[in-house]
Amino acid sequence: MCLALPLRGEAPRLAQPIDCTLGEDCYIQNYVDHDPGPGYADFTCGPLSYDGHKGTDFALISRAAMTAGVTVHAAAAGRVTALRDGMTDGVFLEDPAAVKDRECGNGVVIDHGEDWQTQYCHLQKDSVSVTKGQSVKAGAPLGRVGLSGRTEFPHVHVSLRHDGKAVDPFNPDGDHACEEMPRRTLWQDPAPHYRPGGMLSAGFSDAVPAYDHVKSGRAATVHLPADAPALVVWGFAFGGRPGDRVMLEINAPDGSRIISHTVELENPMGLFFRAAGKRRSGSAWPKGVYHGQVSLQRDGQHLGTQHTTVTIGP
Ligand SMILES: [Zn+2]
Repeated sequence: MCLALPLRGEAPRLAQPIDCTLGEDCYIQNYVDHDPGPGYADFTCGPLSYDGHKGTDFALISRAAMTAGVTVHAAAAGRVTALRDGMTDGVFLEDPAAVKDRECGNGVVIDHGEDWQTQYCHLQKDSVSVTKGQSVKAGAPLGRVGLSGRTEFPHVHVSLRHDGKAVDPFNPDGDHACEEMPRRTLWQDPAPHYRPGGMLSAGFSDAVPAYDHVKSGRAATVHLPADAPALVVWGFAFGGRPGDRVMLEINAPDGSRIISHTVELENPMGLFFRAAGKRRSGSAWPKGVYHGQVSLQRDGQHLGTQHTTVTIGP
């Protein structure tokens, strides 16, 4: 017997609101918070959320990707009822008070009728390409992913509201059954796949890189001199949980293993990186292409691997 309730007031079916491939050049960092108390939980009961979060955060893997330009699209047809542009990207990182009451940053609100609305936040300064009152089709470009308002990483925050209340498109009935594949979503088929964590990028460097360089996409080098003081491989990842294992490996041009190192996480981490490497022992590294590999594992399950190479030589 089917006990499903009818859809509430012509709920829109949402298209992916960002021009990227989930699991490749973007991922979902946070979902709507389903925990009514001071804790937080995404619709699977996992920790990819934070207290009071009312939307879905589609994130890019680096600030370099943001600078290259990634379009934000209307998730469904409707009319633009509000927008803001002109706020500088990255201000929150330097002066959190500067975004007070303007947490969304540069953003767009679309009315889909029947009291359904979507809102898109943190767009790049001067990128908003629609006007107030404009009718848009599903998939219409609205602007570009940025870092405006209250955000520390490049992403578009998309919230869905009905009668002014937040609705999780992954679990619109709010039954919070802790399932990764809810019975009904408000996404067009196929709904975005839930990833409980994974690798975002990996690279080589001659020292443990600054975290800021990892996040910005500037940490990796593809070429090192033979007298580089050390050979370090690092991996950038999201959704870490205590007990997760990060496995880092470097293989020499002749295929021999230079390092194989496992780090266990002690704390939950939304975004993090780990690095491992070896100091030069002789006067020079053998020339050639070195292969690096960084994987994330949870309870024996593989959550992702990133491969990277560096060429050592003149
Ligand atoms: Zn958000």
